[in-house]
Amino acid sequence: MLRQYLQTKNQYPDCIIFFRLGDFYEMFFEDAQIASKLLGITLTSRAKGKDAYPMCGVPFFSAGSYIAKLVEQGHKVAVCDQVEDASSSKGIVKREVTRVVSPGMITNPEDLDAKLPNFLAGLSVQDTEGSLSIGFAFLDVSTADFRATQITSQQMLMDEIARVRPKELLLPAQLVDSNLASELRKRQKGLYIRPVDDESPATLQPNEQFAWVTDLPQGNPSGGSPDLGLAYQAAATVYRYAYHFLPGSLSHIRRLVTYQVTDHMVIDDYSQINLELACTLMDAKRQGSLLDQMDRTQTPMGARTLTHWLLFPLISIDEIQKRLAAVESLFLQDILREDLAKHLGNIRDMERLVAKISLGQANPRDLGVLRDSLDLLPAWQDLILSNQNDALKRLLGDLDLLQDLYQELDDALVASPPPDLAEGGAIRTGYNPELDRLFALATKSRDLLANLEETERQKTGIGSLKVRYNRVFGYYLEVTKTHLKQVPSHYQRKQTTANAERYETQELKELEESILRAQDERVGLEREIINHLMERIRIEAERILKTAKQVAISDVIASLACLARDNHYNRPQVDDSEIITIEDGRHPVVEAALNDERFVPNDIQLDCNQEQLLLITGPNMAGKSTTIRQVALICIMAQMGSFVPAKAAHIGVVDRIFTRIGASDNLARGHSTFMIEMLETANILNNATRRSLLILDEVGRGTSTFDGLSIAWATAEYIHDRIMARTLFATHYHQLTDLVKTKERIANYTMSVKEWRNQIIFLRRLVKGACNRSYGIQVARLAGLPGEVIQRAKELLVIFEKEESKEMSSLMNKNTSQLLLFHPTQESPTERELKETDLDSITPLEALQLLHKLKNQL
Ligand code: ADP
Ligand code: MG
Repeated sequence: MLRQYLQTKNQYPDCIIFFRLGDFYEMFFEDAQIASKLLGITLTSRAKGKDAYPMCGVPFFSAGSYIAKLVEQGHKVAVCDQVEDASSSKGIVKREVTRVVSPGMITNPEDLDAKLPNFLAGLSVQDTEGSLSIGFAFLDVSTADFRATQITSQQMLMDEIARVRPKELLLPAQLVDSNLASELRKRQKGLYIRPVDDESPATLQPNEQFAWVTDLPQGNPSGGSPDLGLAYQAAATVYRYAYHFLPGSLSHIRRLVTYQVTDHMVIDDYSQINLELACTLMDAKRQGSLLDQMDRTQTPMGARTLTHWLLFPLISIDEIQKRLAAVESLFLQDILREDLAKHLGNIRDMERLVAKISLGQANPRDLGVLRDSLDLLPAWQDLILSNQNDALKRLLGDLDLLQDLYQELDDALVASPPPDLAEGGAIRTGYNPELDRLFALATKSRDLLANLEETERQKTGIGSLKVRYNRVFGYYLEVTKTHLKQVPSHYQRKQTTANAERYETQELKELEESILRAQDERVGLEREIINHLMERIRIEAERILKTAKQVAISDVIASLACLARDNHYNRPQVDDSEIITIEDGRHPVVEAALNDERFVPNDIQLDCNQEQLLLITGPNMAGKSTTIRQVALICIMAQMGSFVPAKAAHIGVVDRIFTRIGASDNLARGHSTFMIEMLETANILNNATRRSLLILDEVGRGTSTFDGLSIAWATAEYIHDRIMARTLFATHYHQLTDLVKTKERIANYTMSVKEWRNQIIFLRRLVKGACNRSYGIQVARLAGLPGEVIQRAKELLVIFEKEESKEMSSLMNKNTSQLLLFHPTQESPTERELKETDLDSITPLEALQLLHKLKNQL
């Protein structure tokens, strides 16, 4: 046994081996030490003395949750099962690894977050003469969602990975030490990266299944794309890996959907985080995100689809209108919307049930659950059709209610089939004559046993004689010690207990055999029937998945309609104009979080040809960040097909959203805050187009005043002159308001505040004009700084402001191309060097050397 174990371990050295021994999965040696600690189970040892080695185990029926726990903590588990019947084999039972579980390969719905997809992703990279091409594919085995795309830059890959959020990424082995890999590790925290060697037999074993992958271009909605070779290659890598390491069949995975990154609004990875779309900035939790605020779905399938819609907003005006029309139809019909939601609430996760069945991990109860969901489909269709408006029906297309499958399952299965077939009892009487016969036989045998007990009592005269059964000895006759003298000689003793003797007779033995045979045959036949039904589901998987998707979409539409009703959202007008006009817009998440305070709505008007860049000034806490974020969120919501938190909104389709928000603490990503800020700004300036929406919040904050001001100024000019994208630019540099003097499409706005008895009151209203004061001292007072400090700060402010206005006026008289000459003219080299030194980035030794140098200069 140990030799067999060690062989297995050798084949899967990077896995924790779950080794099946009887009713347990055992782990040995180092695996046992790791697992016992992580799982909180007892570490024991096998063998004695110097041969002893550590071991621990878990019951096989609850292995799933233990495996999931290990995988969650970054381990990979190989499950080694007995692959022949223990009773019929001679010597050691044959064992084989039947599946390898890693984060992207968890398929059991109980071990997965119902509301999230579980993607296994793969890459295929080609870098010829500096022109980069990347194929990116991702597969959720638990739902058969399989997509691939091809992109041309590392940043685009980061953006895609950020919104797909795969659990595991297969990285070609030759890229392990690449810059790409280190960026991935830095920026995609929590992503499990697995190097795969294309030469290794483990991942490349030609067989019919994946020959099929390479010619997969069916079902591509975006039409023929010039070159998707790498996308297919990445898809093949992913598929092969899943095929090799998962048990059962992947027959439910039939479609690979290829897409172009530009089919959707691009939301780069920074922006997805900054805008807190699917999880919060602070703690990466779903709670508090826009997704969480929006989700009113009733099924896990709907919740996952909603997530997808939010992170992949549409570009096609037609598609957006189709979704909006469907939402509106349910928005207007309260009773229908509520009925539909209630009905959907009873439909279970059909996608994951189908996958579980295909993978051979399902039990009879799962079939019953699927049957019950199929049963709900006709009434679901009735609700869809009873919609006075056919927008939802048009969005869903033709419905296949799968009633043939329902009938097949329902004819066979009892009302609630057991999870385990050991005792039978999953199949209805009347379904299979042979099964009924065996069942009758079992019943009859039970009668015969009762008869036998009665006749033996009469023959022997032992009134207390009983026929009994236990697992070890089977059926026996039990006689208490007081009656032993009456026991006839043909009784054969089987066992002695404290107060009784147990016997068997020829007749009882024969009866027992026929009972057990009937029971065995019955269970065997039931298993056969169940397997046949599973096979039927496997064959029809694609049909079921298609209907499941339609159920999911109807769920999302109902959810969006419900959200809009609850929160007084309105249908946005979406077209290809170059404007964004929002009347009485609100921030969907901040609004929901405010308890007693009322959220103050605001208007926004952006237009590539008129007011293209709004420069928003105002003191801290005035509401700048909230206002500009809400514009981005409203655009995303509109383009995903949702109503928006505004009285009215007119959105000219946005191709990309870029944000640079707040001095958020990104130390975890390994860059200083200022470096992050500049990276984000560079990404914006290099990739934005005229159709993009730019949200810039406090650019330049992370560095010294003049550096920051200069960068902010130059950035605003560049956006105005070169990119011409719709832009919201919040800043605390009130000097920037002078930009309007030279740039015609820049307009000044401010968040209004009122001063009252030296106090500051935030009105949260965006109004035209500039704020020429920062009110920092008032905010400081609000925060409770000592009066003495406040007084002194006020005096200093007067002096500083005078100085600065002198500088600024000289600056404004200069040509704008010389704008970076902010520094006072008579600056000594020593002063300059001192100013330019970033104290945060030099070592103590460098500091000493610098000091030495400066001293020498003096
Ligand atoms: P700034 O960016 O100007 O410093 P924020 O946008 O961060 O200000 O807003 C500060 C706080 O004011 C927010 O946390 C929010 O609670 C509140 N707030 C912002 N905008 C509004 C509004 N329109 N109505 C009500 N409260 C608001
Ligand atoms: Mg702010």
